Amino acid sequence: AIPVLAVDGPTASGKGTLAAELAKALGYHLLDSGALYRATALAARNAGVALSDGPNVARIAARLDIRFDGESVWMAGQEVSHELRLESTGGLASQVSVHPEVRQALHELQLSFQRLPGLVADGRDMGTVVFPQAQLKVFLTASAEKRAERRYKQLIAKGISANIDSLLLDLQARDERDKSRAAAPLKPAEDALLLDNSELSIESSVEQVLGWWEQ
Ligand code: C5P
Repeated sequence: AIPVLAVDGPTASGKGTLAAELAKALGYHLLDSGALYRATALAARNAGVALSDGPNVARIAARLDIRFDGESVWMAGQEVSHELRLESTGGLASQVSVHPEVRQALHELQLSFQRLPGLVADGRDMGTVVFPQAQLKVFLTASAEKRAERRYKQLIAKGISANIDSLLLDLQARDERDKSRAAAPLKPAEDALLLDNSELSIESSVEQVLGWWEQ
């Protein structure tokens, strides 16, 4: 079987960074599943499809023309990395992700990332729905305050102005929507190992997970 390491957790828990570091350390492929939901939302918006229209957004998701090339992401021949990472795009992604049809449409695309020598998959339902057979499932947590603070620092470092209180409110609203949706609600798989990284550096988190992986 092709090895899979699933990393799930809430918004701004540091999943993306952790998953990328793990993939690098192991020499594995990386699936940023959130990027697929983000790309779907952008493509739907560009096509003038309402994000509340599950069946039509799912049609867009099924035809998604997306390519990952290192740090950059291309959609229909256009570089969209920056737009994809915007907070506002995350909000749109969270709206399209509630539709079961959309999740279904992206399911196969996500499976296609499982290639040798192995895959690190990051998202909300990697361990519960998409890769239930994963050899290791990590569920990352960190307090909402800590996550808002990290997101704030990231934005400021990029020269983007931000307000920590509105970031916190935004993040809590997204958490609520991700946890309470009927389709693949955010929750740890039964066999997931929990990692609270509120007080951990990235290096220590990577070390912890690599330690679990080697067992
Ligand atoms: O992880 P990221 O912030 O890029 O995800 C954006 C949104 O996409 C999340 O808020 C969530 O609603 C949705 N998502 C999802 N399932 C995944 C990955 C992301 O529902 N596996």
